[in-house]
Amino acid sequence: MSLKLVHAVEADEKGWLLGQQLSAHASNLPASAIGNMINGAITVLVFYGSVSLTLMAACYLMIGALVLYRMYGTKDALLNIHDLAKLRRVKLRVELCAAALGLIWGTTTGLEFAYANPAQQMYLGILASGMLAAGTLTFRTCERAGRLYLAFSVPGYLYGFLSLGHLPGLAAAGLLIAYTVILFGNIMHNARVFGDSMRRERALLASSETIQLLLNDFEEQGSDWLIELDAEGRILIPRARLAEAAQRPIETIVNKPFVDLLDHGDTRDALVSHLKNKRAFRHHIVSLTIDSKQLWWSISVRPATDGLIAFRGVVTDITAQRHAEEKVSYMAHYDGLTGLPNRFTFNSSLYRSLARDRGVAGLMYLDLDHFKTINDTLGHPVGDQLLKAVARRLESCLSPDDLIARLGGDEFAVIVSSNRLDKLDALAQKIVESLNCPFRLGDHDVVIGVSVGIACAPEHAETPDDLLRNADLALYAAKTAGRNCATRFEPGMDEAAQQRRLIEMDLRGSLTKNEMRLHYQPLINAGTGETNGYEALIRWEHPTRGFVMPQEFIGIAEETGMIVQIGEWVIRQAIDDLAGWAPHLTVSINLSPAQMRSPTLISTIVQSLARTGVDAQRICLEITESVLMQDSEANIETLHKLRGLGLQIALDDFGTGYSSLNYLRSFPFNKIKIDRCFVSEIDTREDCRAIVRSVVSLARSLGMAITAEGVERPEQVNCLQMEGCAEVQGYLYSKAVPVGELSDLRAPRELKAATLLSFSREAGEAAKIPEGSQSRAKAA
Ligand code: C2E
Ligand code: CA
Ligand code: CA
Repeated sequence: MSLKLVHAVEADEKGWLLGQQLSAHASNLPASAIGNMINGAITVLVFYGSVSLTLMAACYLMIGALVLYRMYGTKDALLNIHDLAKLRRVKLRVELCAAALGLIWGTTTGLEFAYANPAQQMYLGILASGMLAAGTLTFRTCERAGRLYLAFSVPGYLYGFLSLGHLPGLAAAGLLIAYTVILFGNIMHNARVFGDSMRRERALLASSETIQLLLNDFEEQGSDWLIELDAEGRILIPRARLAEAAQRPIETIVNKPFVDLLDHGDTRDALVSHLKNKRAFRHHIVSLTIDSKQLWWSISVRPATDGLIAFRGVVTDITAQRHAEEKVSYMAHYDGLTGLPNRFTFNSSLYRSLARDRGVAGLMYLDLDHFKTINDTLGHPVGDQLLKAVARRLESCLSPDDLIARLGGDEFAVIVSSNRLDKLDALAQKIVESLNCPFRLGDHDVVIGVSVGIACAPEHAETPDDLLRNADLALYAAKTAGRNCATRFEPGMDEAAQQRRLIEMDLRGSLTKNEMRLHYQPLINAGTGETNGYEALIRWEHPTRGFVMPQEFIGIAEETGMIVQIGEWVIRQAIDDLAGWAPHLTVSINLSPAQMRSPTLISTIVQSLARTGVDAQRICLEITESVLMQDSEANIETLHKLRGLGLQIALDDFGTGYSSLNYLRSFPFNKIKIDRCFVSEIDTREDCRAIVRSVVSLARSLGMAITAEGVERPEQVNCLQMEGCAEVQGYLYSKAVPVGELSDLRAPRELKAATLLSFSREAGEAAKIPEGSQSRAKAA
């Protein structure tokens, strides 16, 4: 078939059709030859004795020779089907044979009528019609040969019937003419039908061959392969690709049910049902396991009726695609680092758990303390390890019913199935304590803490969004309360947050509207009572709120980053003010950690120094320990640059927060400012006094000056002096006042005329000085 096909594709259509016609004709010839010979032999027998045997034998032997020659000659046509010239010669031979055969049969039969008795005449009539019918059949695919056969045989038969000279003979001749016309038409019709059907078959074969070529190509190139199954769903002639994909030797899958390759389950059952019901299906996804590795195939199959083939289809290995989809889905729902659910999963879980438990749920927001410091100082890989370790520790604190998620960065959240506050408090406490224990990460022991905000539904909120917001407010409160603790949501927090938002909005326009002011609080020489300098303390003169104190807005400015611009304004303003003061006076400027990271800090200072021409030594920058905790290396470098410019650096609020003597070693400060909390009870509590004493001696040994903050009573000054503290600052001397109200901006000798008050008498009053009133210089 396929050889025939290939030839068919190559031969041009005419030649191909001729070949088809001749080969169809050739297939009739053995039967035709036998028929001719038997008819000849019977006729000889029927007319034996009536007609010359020699003459008859000669005629019928000629017929026998002709049909054998025709049979032999057309065999060529089958062998040389692609050779058009040869085919044409064969065709001619067939036509000549047809004419000759027709002539001999017609003539012999027609002449025999003259010698025949009525019985023999009947035989001849039947023979004539039989030969006409058989000839038409034999030549049905070779139109011209058929017509020649009729044209050469019919006159003989006609002559025979007419020669009888009676009415039946005449009627037979009439019928013969009618049959001949029908047979002529029949030959033409048959030839046309044969030609059409051959052309159709040729087109079909050509297209199926093309499809086959394409399919082979498709199988070789792609990740897909074809399957052909029998009616029972068994694999017929498996493709190498299928065996390869199923990782089995090809011979082990021949005639095996296709579904045997697949994993048991619903999708396999559905496939079995499709095959059983002879249904076509598309993209049916099934799984199979090979060496404990799961693969996924997508199968599209159509029923077929082609021999044993009952189904034909395409299989695609979609394992890689499936893995990619699973990965995408995982990434959409889980945090890649810790493997915990992410914010998306957390939010949808919260919605679901509130809906399921009739609005009852507990929520905790967690924020790690000092994570950024660790990330910045020890590097991101250690930060990542820490987050993973934190995730595992948090999981160990929770019950299987609770859901913990990482919301991003160092933020985590827990949905607790209970809304009992005591239970939530206890769990939060457990988490705080657990995260307080040091983490061993490689060579580092890392200590962090966690701030927790607690809110529960329906007490604190009814909708998930409100619950989330309230837990966040509680977390904010926990952070402001000093971190490393848990705080429950309280209704007032909402109000406070609202206030904060309003302040934040107003703060944005405060500098352009020129609403910021600097007030100055004197730093006093404890021994002489003379003013050494002033600390610049910012005030915000709000159009409706009045004077807003730094505690109310510095935190917000730090969080929003606005502190950088505000701080630069403070620097410029303070240095401008300083330029108008006597040269022995200094100014102290507070710097926030965010300012330390600002790339414009140094240039702002340098520009102010250049513009005013003041001596850099007269400027003292006050920083807190938090500056040394965050980005410490970069910040220490900045501090060294500032010192290089000649500025003084003071460590502010010493003794609060994460006070560590280590910070004193990390940078050579010019001054330490002892926090107000030690000073306030120095005259009543021995432990406070002991702390001050040790700080003073430490500072002395490190070559640093000491200032005590928050001095309100003369007794405190006495104690501080006894412990060796040379500089004091506090309401006892003055609150922070506008620059215009500073009275001792001149050189000391110019102040001689000024009224000097004794500590003891004025102390009480001084402590009550209202903000903004005249500051007073004190004399010993
Ligand atoms: P600080 O640097 O520790 O400033 C001292 C604070 O203690 C000032 O509060 C001052 O008014 C107050 N104080 C002084 N003497 C006494 C006293 O005898 N008793 C009491 N109870 N308090 C006293 P203030 O002005 O409200 O400033 C608060 C904090 O705001 C400052 O603390 C400082 O950290 C920050 N701050 C103020 N101005 C600026 C600034 O321009 N930039 C930055 N970054 N922070 C500033
Ligand atoms: Ca300060
Ligand atoms: Ca301070």
